[in-house]
Amino acid sequence: MYKMMTPGPTMVAENVRAARSVETGNPDIDIDFFDFYKETCELYSELLHTKNESLILSGEGILGLEAAVASITEAGDRVLVLDNGVFGKGFADFVSMYGGEPVLYTTDYKREIEAEPLRAYLEADHDFKYATLVHCDTPSGMLNDISKLCPILKEYGILTVVDSVSGMFGNPVNVDDDRIDILCGGSQKAISCPIGLTLVTISDDAKRMMEERKTKIPSFYANLTIFKDYYENKWFPYSMPISDIYGLRKALDNIRGDKDILKRHAEVAAKTRNALVSAGLHLYAENGYSNTVTVFTIPEGVTAARIIELMRSDHNILIAGSFDVMAGEVIRIGHMGYNCTEENMKETLTALNDVLNKLGVKLTGTLSYS
Ligand SMILES: *Cc1c(COP(=O)(O)O)cnc(C)c1O
Repeated sequence: MYKMMTPGPTMVAENVRAARSVETGNPDIDIDFFDFYKETCELYSELLHTKNESLILSGEGILGLEAAVASITEAGDRVLVLDNGVFGKGFADFVSMYGGEPVLYTTDYKREIEAEPLRAYLEADHDFKYATLVHCDTPSGMLNDISKLCPILKEYGILTVVDSVSGMFGNPVNVDDDRIDILCGGSQKAISCPIGLTLVTISDDAKRMMEERKTKIPSFYANLTIFKDYYENKWFPYSMPISDIYGLRKALDNIRGDKDILKRHAEVAAKTRNALVSAGLHLYAENGYSNTVTVFTIPEGVTAARIIELMRSDHNILIAGSFDVMAGEVIRIGHMGYNCTEENMKETLTALNDVLNKLGVKLTGTLSYS
């Protein structure tokens, strides 16, 4: 297997893979599994510093985003879509799909969304049912400061839906302090499980909004209310992917035991950026750097595809290009969760130095992690 230094999926720890392969019972009928599921959700909430309920849904990260929007959008609802990246803008499609009216608040894709201009905008217009925003917009590695933005939105009575799929556990997330109403996570980013699960964390305000709907939620899988009282009734709306959840639990146990996780992400990310800049490469963004992914622009005379190809063929390391408006513009190196170690980054940057030299890129110094 190659070393997978992509911004999700990540490599998966041995103990998580082992947990995914143990013999399983019947998750629909076995009473003990309801406790296991609930305790896993509670552990996840605890790691995100919230008393809000979390749910594990069977489906990839995108399902969480769709479910959040589907569950609180009704025809004609005005929704503020904070857009400084591909995923940020993408929320508008879900809002329209469920009958809402997305209003885009678009800012420079190379800079984080700033608090004061947002406040000034809301001062003039805050008639929104909720707002969507992305914590780490992975295609560009853009990190928005949810601890500043979400409380401002709430001040104006606007609920918040936050996509932190690739932000959480590499960057701080404090759901209660930040007043996040629905937080979306996924198994394959810093949680470091394989692809397959999404997690949603739901505030009481958001639950109330779902209960007070005038119209039914036009979906089954994307309807967050189908889990209501699952524990009391010992009834899941569909059969739970038990092996995935065993793996998730182990991964969350790993995170709980890893007291330096945020500090390590911050250090590795800072050193990675520093190494790239010192060698004469250019970071894509001007600020708002996430600790989970580093994104640099393609140097003159080479293509993203060639860099990725040689990293794979000569060094057995997989790194990523990007997509949508970012396609062909940048290279992305993931350093999240189980990937985020000094050794992995040393090996990756040494290999990248070799590949860029082979391709004739003029660096101003040796690219190395130190
Ligand atoms: C990975 C990711 C998701 C989940 O979707 P994918 O299909 O895995 O891309 C959602 N939001 C963000 C910001 C992500 O990085």
